[in-house]
Amino acid sequence: MALPCVAEQFFELSSEQAISDFFYAHPEDVLILGGGSNVVLPPVIQRPVVQVVNHTLECIARDLDHVVVKVGASVVWDELVAWAVENSYYGLENLSLIPGSVGAAPVQNIGAYGVELKDVLKSVRAFDRVQRVFVDLSNERCCFGYRDSIFKRECGRYVISEVVLRLARKAQFVLEYGELKTLSHEANLSLSKVRDTVIGVRSAKLPDPKVIPNTGSFFKNPVISRSTCEVLKQRFPSLVCYPAGEGSMKLAAGWLIENAGLKGYVQGNASVHDKQALVLTNQGGAQQQDIIRLASYVEDKIKDLYGIELEQEPILIRD
Ligand SMILES: Cc1cc2nc3c(=O)[nH]c(=O)nc-3n(C[C@H](O)[C@H](O)[C@H](O)COP(=O)(O)OP(=O)(O)OC[C@H]3O[C@@H](n4cnc5c(N)ncnc54)[C@H](O)[C@@H]3O)c2cc1C
Repeated sequence: MALPCVAEQFFELSSEQAISDFFYAHPEDVLILGGGSNVVLPPVIQRPVVQVVNHTLECIARDLDHVVVKVGASVVWDELVAWAVENSYYGLENLSLIPGSVGAAPVQNIGAYGVELKDVLKSVRAFDRVQRVFVDLSNERCCFGYRDSIFKRECGRYVISEVVLRLARKAQFVLEYGELKTLSHEANLSLSKVRDTVIGVRSAKLPDPKVIPNTGSFFKNPVISRSTCEVLKQRFPSLVCYPAGEGSMKLAAGWLIENAGLKGYVQGNASVHDKQALVLTNQGGAQQQDIIRLASYVEDKIKDLYGIELEQEPILIRD
């Protein structure tokens, strides 16, 4: 978001020993930061800010069908995806170009184009600040949901140092979503073709955060009951919605915002992006307060028009 922010104390922790020593010495509230792409930061952070430095990237097991890969928290997510594609490991290609670090990926169970991290994640190694030991959490124990996990629900408890993934060695693509559908009839489809397509679509749709500061989708797609959805559909026949498990429907939050007339809405130094209504942007010089104010304005409008409460996706950091 490129919001101005000063951390009064900043620490890089580059070994398990350093992590446990640090958290024994600092039982107080601490902010764990990855690449900073999914946080809305305040002007000053007084509590310690910590970054885990772990560049591990190694195959720890393989058989005919799969490879098991251990990846350090500070590896850049998209560099991992590029590496997997180069080595012909399947499973991450739909998650191309998602900004941020590997350590943050389990926090909101990153997802795109029908694939979520949970589909390939075997376990997460983290320092548990409650038990004060390193733990290896299996996929089940991470309690993954849509943009959700135990790491988000018990925010600040786990300091993720490594992630273990199980990737396929034989071609298996997920091409049911959006523009990827067009690839499903292609003979000899390659991993790099899927990655390039995802990168092309994302670059065309989402503003580059280095050019127009943003956190990606600012709101989650709301999940509502099928009956509520049917009532809404009568009022808004072009409502965009998808089945989301038994009796539930997922609404496209971007459509709700655009249909409310808020696409391109500018409020001070912050705005709803003029091409992608799900994205809030810093127009230059915005502070955390400006983003909070704009987000509340959008939420109120959506509640008034559709009776639906939007939930924010990025993490609002208070100090
Ligand atoms: C343009 C754009 C597009 C995006 N597209 C998508 C998308 O398609 N799908 C999607 O799911 N997300 C998307 N995002 C959101 C973002 O990329 C992900 O949430 C990403 O995982 C954040 O990584 P980060 O390293 O920047 O985390 P940060 O923003 O630094 O941190 C995010 C959260 O994770 C916690 N955290 C970070 N590192 C650790 C650690 N080592 N241990 C414990 N907790 C930690 C932080 O405390 C914070 O709560 C997008 C963001 C942008 C800007």
